[in-house]
Amino acid sequence: MKVIETAAGMKRARRQESGSVGLVPTMGYLHKGHLSLVSRARQENDRVVVSVFVNPTQFGPSEDFVRYPRDTERDLAMLAREEVDVVFMPPVEEVYPNGFNTSVEVGEVTERLEGACRPGHFRGVATVVNKLFNIVQPNRAYFGQKDAQQAIVIKRMVTDLDMNVEVVVMPTMREEDGLAMSSRNVYLNGEERHAALVLSRSLQQASDLHKRGERSAEGVRRAMTALIEAEKLAEIDYVSVADASTLAELDTIAGPALVSIAVRIGKTRLIDNTILGTD
Ligand code: AMP
Repeated sequence: MKVIETAAGMKRARRQESGSVGLVPTMGYLHKGHLSLVSRARQENDRVVVSVFVNPTQFGPSEDFVRYPRDTERDLAMLAREEVDVVFMPPVEEVYPNGFNTSVEVGEVTERLEGACRPGHFRGVATVVNKLFNIVQPNRAYFGQKDAQQAIVIKRMVTDLDMNVEVVVMPTMREEDGLAMSSRNVYLNGEERHAALVLSRSLQQASDLHKRGERSAEGVRRAMTALIEAEKLAEIDYVSVADASTLAELDTIAGPALVSIAVRIGKTRLIDNTILGTD
């Protein structure tokens, strides 16, 4: 497994490959959710590149960029076990050298949900993913449904800018008790870890209501809000029941709906989602 830290080095390594390349972009501190993407990439491509880069431009000024968990040795050991060919792990100055002054702005789908709570977040995401695509030139790129809006934004960018990359979205991996795996779960203390189950429980409740015939989006939002508010450590950023492709909030659930939530548990902000109306 090669570890490459420069864009020029990564481009050189790419030029030497003639087969298909799968890219898994990550911010490191890997868990089984990341590895499910890597394993799919391994099945579908001749070469697998995993990028590990905590991207400063997608964090707001008061967010957790500095304290975001990092463990390079552990990440590299996990990726070696998955038979990854290249780990692209650039320092910040390599991605954003002096004078860097361009960004990629995706439209309406970035204005809602995460975009509304985290101004500039998706500009940072779209810009860095665009750069990673240009440097690595993958045939396929793998993203998690855990970050549902991110996957929608990336697909929009790829379509709108005619990028030659197939975007593959993989299901959310969960702990046995339902908590969606996330690098940020490490921030939770014991009591908060327990309280965090309210996210997956509220999504389960949404699915149950939908199965029993509830079609009022507001009915689902209200029930979820009540359940989450009953947890003392939880504070809601948003509870959304939206059209799964446009992310416009729904009145009536007729087609596929994305139910997504952002909840603070103590100081830790967690997101999770599920899709209704596909089964
Ligand atoms: P991150 O390192 O958090 O930026 O995540 C890197 C990629 O892994 C993104 O495409 C995420 O959506 C995906 N991912 C994160 N958590 C999970 C999970 N629990 N299950 C599946 N994919 C995930």
